[in-house]
Amino acid sequence: MDFPWDAVDWVMLDMDGTLLDKHFDDYFWETLVPQEFARRHHLSLAAARQEVFARYQREEGTLNWTDIDFWSRELELDIPALKEGIRHLIEVHPDSKPFLEYVRRLQKKVILVTNAHYKTLDLKMNHVGLLGYFDQVISSFDLGAPKEDRRFWAALEAQLHFDPQRTMLVDDNRDVLQTAREYGIRYLFFKGISSSQAPAETSRRFPVLNYFTELMPAGAAVAPDNRAETPA
Ligand SMILES: [Mg+2]
Repeated sequence: MDFPWDAVDWVMLDMDGTLLDKHFDDYFWETLVPQEFARRHHLSLAAARQEVFARYQREEGTLNWTDIDFWSRELELDIPALKEGIRHLIEVHPDSKPFLEYVRRLQKKVILVTNAHYKTLDLKMNHVGLLGYFDQVISSFDLGAPKEDRRFWAALEAQLHFDPQRTMLVDDNRDVLQTAREYGIRYLFFKGISSSQAPAETSRRFPVLNYFTELMPAGAAVAPDNRAETPA
């Protein structure tokens, strides 16, 4: 795709599912947490799954959804410790680093915008070593509202003074993209491949990006050289 890079100053990227393989989160919340909940509360796995999934549903689209301290209390499980225990499963999508290097070379402002809780953000970024690519890392917990809420974008603009008309956002959450569209962010992409273990998803409302390389001219994804792994 011929993307008008000259029209963009701000590149905003979601973390889970967009830059990182969502398989880690799916496995964690859909398999590991119900198993541990069953063990802790002496339930069958089926009953535990039903209970846990009902509680997830109640919190979707809120800050509680990604607040691992909330879930520790709610489920009476040590969620940070459980995550730490499977940190080796955290993976970066193979197209993420070439894209981050590319937008750095273009000298765009590169911002990580995530609903992830600080503890999850730290665990993941320390594990995958992507932090050096970003000018700013923004957690919804900094701004007091999730990305699905218009107030997130208003607070972000007040902090960064970005121009929504010269901003792009890539996210694997359609509700987030819809809110960003209503706020006035101009270049929106739905990340179709969010998990290495799930089929690509589509969207009728937003242009779909299966791989970041679709936004890069052929040959732009040069092999990393021998410098430090991330830019200074
Ligand atoms: Mg995501």
